Amino acid sequence: MRSNDVSRMSGRWVRRGREIILLPDADGLLGEMEEETGPIPATQQGVIHPAIDVHAQYALMRMSRGDPSARADAWGMLGAVKAGRLGIYKVDQQKPALRAKKLGSSWWTVIPAGEDAAVLMEPGGTEPPFIVFRDGVKGDAARLDPALRRAWSTFGMLGRCGPAPGRGGMMAEVLPGRVVPANLVPPMLCAGPPPKGPRGMPPCPIQDRTGLTDRGKRKSLKRTDFKALVLHQMGFSRGDNPARYDDVTAHYAITPNGTILQLHPDAAYLFASNRFNRFSVAVEFAGNFPNRKGSCWKPQKHGCHTVTPRQISAGRCLVRHLVAKLGITQVLAHRQSSAMRENDPGPDLWLNVGQWAVDNLGLSDGGPGYKIDDGKPIPPDWRK
Ligand SMILES: [Zn+2]
Repeated sequence: MRSNDVSRMSGRWVRRGREIILLPDADGLLGEMEEETGPIPATQQGVIHPAIDVHAQYALMRMSRGDPSARADAWGMLGAVKAGRLGIYKVDQQKPALRAKKLGSSWWTVIPAGEDAAVLMEPGGTEPPFIVFRDGVKGDAARLDPALRRAWSTFGMLGRCGPAPGRGGMMAEVLPGRVVPANLVPPMLCAGPPPKGPRGMPPCPIQDRTGLTDRGKRKSLKRTDFKALVLHQMGFSRGDNPARYDDVTAHYAITPNGTILQLHPDAAYLFASNRFNRFSVAVEFAGNFPNRKGSCWKPQKHGCHTVTPRQISAGRCLVRHLVAKLGITQVLAHRQSSAMRENDPGPDLWLNVGQWAVDNLGLSDGGPGYKIDDGKPIPPDWRK
């Protein structure tokens, strides 16, 4: 952290060990994150956590003031640490140094050449992965922040990692067709069921409302062959009260504050995504979101909303979860199956969740120009 960066932050300074740390005040990060992404428990003092190195704390604060994607990453990393699923350390600290040794390496060689940060898995698969970064970039925001975000993206690919049965280690086999990121140590993605419990990758918090919704919407309950998830925008928002979304025809819905609701069982055939219905689960985001030109559909009646960072974070988590749970290999837009749904889910959701899953999880969107029936392909300007 350079001193000129510090001077722009508001808050109060405290000493912890040999480090000086900044507790953001109500007008600083905490206020902003409460507004943008929901409240952080006051007892956890925002970004301060024993499993987050202080330089990484600064990085998270910077990201939390960045664009929606950076804010989603900051929120995601913070949430993963607080859930016991991740630690973020400078590589020469004790915990990562011990892990590097366990991996047959050392703290000064474990981060691959050309990378400023890496994800260190734990050989036994019983401890959470660490994101580690080089001492040399700790004060260089221009290198540290992107390196942490790249590592976080790699962390997102670990949804199917777990202890390999009978092998006493976690690395079972490389998933076919997956590109292994250069910042993953050891450099292997593993197959197998996602591990259970607080130390592995738990599923996203998902509120089960399948017992409360209209069974008449379920045209069959026999589906087992899942290929895709389809992203949708509702075109309206009813706020954050889950009960107000019980009549939405989708398997999952994500409210503005990032709460994931499961409305119908995965096996249910719903009239949600036209001819994608047979092989897909539908994910609806609450909001009336603009097209590339900034216009919303009937804004006088439905308002005009912005995708929230918590919706992005929840959407990404749900995609990872569905990959692990159902083995889906495609992420699609409702637009691709219906001429009536031109801006569904819209450019912001597609870029931050759909395209993100293509780029980071190796999912397919059907390829350039892909559509069925009278649907339309993903426009190139939705991808950037
Ligand atoms: Zn739709």
